[in-house]
Amino acid sequence: MRHQLHIDGQWRDGSAGTFAVHDPSTGEVIADFANASTEDCIAAVDAAAAAFDSWAATAPRVRAELLRATFELLSSERDDLADLIVRENGKAWPDAVGEASYATEFFRWFSEEAVRVRGDFRLAPAGDKHIIVDAQPIGVSVLITPWNFPAAMATRKIAPALAAGCTVVLKPAGETPLTAAYIIDAMVRAGLPDGVVNLVTPSDVGPAVSAMLHHPAVRKLSFTGSTEVGRILLHESADQVISASMELGGNAPFLVLPGADLEQAVAGAMVAKMRNGGSACTAANRFYVHRSLHDAFAARLAEEMGAMPMGPGLDRANRLGALVSLAERDKVARLVEQGITEGARVELGGEPSAVGAFYPATVLTGVEHGGTLTSTEVFGPVAPIVVFDDVDEAVRMANDTIYGLIAYVYGEPGAALQVARRLDAGMVGVNRALVSDPAAPFGGMKQSGLGREGAEEGIREFLEEQYLAIEL
Ligand code: NAP
Repeated sequence: MRHQLHIDGQWRDGSAGTFAVHDPSTGEVIADFANASTEDCIAAVDAAAAAFDSWAATAPRVRAELLRATFELLSSERDDLADLIVRENGKAWPDAVGEASYATEFFRWFSEEAVRVRGDFRLAPAGDKHIIVDAQPIGVSVLITPWNFPAAMATRKIAPALAAGCTVVLKPAGETPLTAAYIIDAMVRAGLPDGVVNLVTPSDVGPAVSAMLHHPAVRKLSFTGSTEVGRILLHESADQVISASMELGGNAPFLVLPGADLEQAVAGAMVAKMRNGGSACTAANRFYVHRSLHDAFAARLAEEMGAMPMGPGLDRANRLGALVSLAERDKVARLVEQGITEGARVELGGEPSAVGAFYPATVLTGVEHGGTLTSTEVFGPVAPIVVFDDVDEAVRMANDTIYGLIAYVYGEPGAALQVARRLDAGMVGVNRALVSDPAAPFGGMKQSGLGREGAEEGIREFLEEQYLAIEL
């Protein structure tokens, strides 16, 4: 298990000592990870800057081959990667296996995109010159990731950045640095040149990230995390006019329209709500169900959610693991208590476990739109249900949020598609709950973010256009 910084091709201790990484299901310390000082972070940016010219000039085919070799290696080690994800994040084994595969796919997808970057060639309307539009790697990139998908959020940034010809410094979440170190170790084994990918883990995160974003070599920030921290980093990026891609918080509505197939909607709700134990930016955060289906939907959802065995993720029979920390468990408990104070009725769950960071599957009915549970990202296995009578009102409530990452609509296909197009969301699942795909542009509208990850759009975030005027 790697537990050091990776700077300029070397695994190194941190100048600020170490910090503990815990198994959330037991509270046990599983590693003391190197704590990076701000100086370590600057050394990592210096290393990325020194490696940039050579990596940018490396043939796209060669860059692609490194990504492909990493894909092959991680595919063959899928269960080891999943094991590590479970140990430091707490999620259930099937969720960890799903994440390991999804994360690995970004190396395959962007190995294929690396050799397909297109420019443009036009004749000026005046006929006096040719216009060539070329795509250049944007430069040294700082990548910051959260704890909920410790592998996939890192590979969704590293792979397109390297495919584009950028060099990077990765700063993973303090709760989950081991997975990031594992992935970089796999890249080293696949032939990663020194300085192209660097790893830093500062526990004094604000000043360290600020120093990196003020380093003159840095040209790109790609951040995934909360909208609150995203706003701070957008301000920081403004000082040097750094290009910023932001994958931020969500508050996904899940609409069940009149005429929806009940069992299909319940099966979709199970995926949209319970994948990753509800700790997903794409998690359905609030359910709006037409009165004609409400009682049956609430009863069936409570039945299905209540049947999920909860316990440590390494026990492969469990389907609901722990939240990442006791603090997260207590946050979810506070939000549910507040919702109950506001009038919600508990149909299932509602009581945190006394041991470990577990919170049980919880279904709440009688929820009013506009209260705590429909306006706050709960990030746990909690399904608050609001009943509606009028589809226009459901659309208004779904859009009544500062967020716009994803929405789900279940209904008769024509009606569901019409409603989907009225929703302020970067992504909409129409009678489908699993939406993420390396080949699709992932990202949000409104305060859920700027830019897209995955697909062709994902590599574009790490490229900059250059116009060449050619005299005729
Ligand atoms: P977070 O608190 O915003 O942290 C995310 C990352 O930012 C971590 O690496 C964290 O480091 C770092 N960070 C925290 N404060 C910072 C500061 N002042 N300056 C610079 N960096 C700072 O988010 P989280 O709690 O880990 O993750 C949950 C959030 O991520 C949710 O809102 C979720 O919706 C969002 N998310 C969005 C997407 C998407 O694609 N849209 C995907 C996954 C998650 P430390 O861990 O060291 O504090």
